Amino acid sequence: MENKIGALANGVNIDHIPQGNAWHIIKLLKLQRKYPVGIGLNLTSKRLGVKDLVKIENYKLSEEQLSAISIFAPGATYSEIENYQIVKKVKLTVATEIENLVICPNHRCVSHQYRSKFSFNNEREKVVATCHYCEHNYELSSLTEFNL
Ligand SMILES: [Zn+2]
Repeated sequence: MENKIGALANGVNIDHIPQGNAWHIIKLLKLQRKYPVGIGLNLTSKRLGVKDLVKIENYKLSEEQLSAISIFAPGATYSEIENYQIVKKVKLTVATEIENLVICPNHRCVSHQYRSKFSFNNEREKVVATCHYCEHNYELSSLTEFNL
């Protein structure tokens, strides 16, 4: 699997991304053109069945970026690689609160006029997102529009 899009000398590998979410992550990171990116879509995974994968050369994510991408990839594995060695490996967990990223699915919600604010709670292995403004609860999969 690793060899399909090449081994990384330096950079990051985001593995076990739920199928279809790699594009959200790429858009969210707003990468400048100087960073080569490898994207694996619809790869077979023992854990997920099918997964996406993103590799970015000569790049590291900030803590803020990590918490933002986590809503597209809870449980994904983020690895930082230096000289072909993994120097940092973390499993992504959804942040407790994220501002100005998720667009509330409730079209009548007043948040559309402000910076959106969502809190995320893990309830029995399932993440529930709550809009700070209309206080509706959403499953992660029903959040489909983002400020990207
Ligand atoms: Zn709302």
